[in-house]
Amino acid sequence: MPVLCGVLAVQGSFGLHARVLERCGAAWREVRTPADLEGLTHIIIPGGESTTMHKLGAHYGLLAPLARAIGNGMAAFGTCAGAILLGDGPPPPPRLGLAPLIVVRNAYGRQKESFTADVAMPSLGGSFRGIFIRAPKIELPPAPPPGTEVLGRCGDAPVMVKYGRMLLATFHPELTGETRVHRFFLDM
Ligand code: GLN
Repeated sequence: MPVLCGVLAVQGSFGLHARVLERCGAAWREVRTPADLEGLTHIIIPGGESTTMHKLGAHYGLLAPLARAIGNGMAAFGTCAGAILLGDGPPPPPRLGLAPLIVVRNAYGRQKESFTADVAMPSLGGSFRGIFIRAPKIELPPAPPPGTEVLGRCGDAPVMVKYGRMLLATFHPELTGETRVHRFFLDM
């Protein structure tokens, strides 16, 4: 099936994800209404502000159809706020809870605790520049749920994790000018 990648475009860094998809040569469309989900094979939920994204997603009636589509096998990539929404954990915001992974919001602190660090990605060609902006942390239990694969680490911390057809990154791969992570996602 040819790839058609949606980019949730209610708030946050959606424009830059679209630019990376263009550089990958992938077909894409912005998603603002349930009808925009039609025919998508993949979707990116960008970074931004997860509480606002959740509110707007609910307002546009998007959350339930989005969760259904992902539950039915559409591949999903959540970056930062997007990973918070895909994962599980205490509100705010209420989570979609599609990936049974605890994602702790603002886990490094406030805006001034944002940072850049090397992410080790041995299976994706080596290190990647991770831009962490008010980033969350993914808390994996000693025995993570089956289907969980840690693809990126910053020190010991898992910062990019695949769970089935979902990819969660706590950093912003759309800000670096690299296409490696997006290409990996499009191949999922
Ligand atoms: N801290 C933000 C939130 O809670 C996420 C930040 C980001 O996406 N860069 O939604």
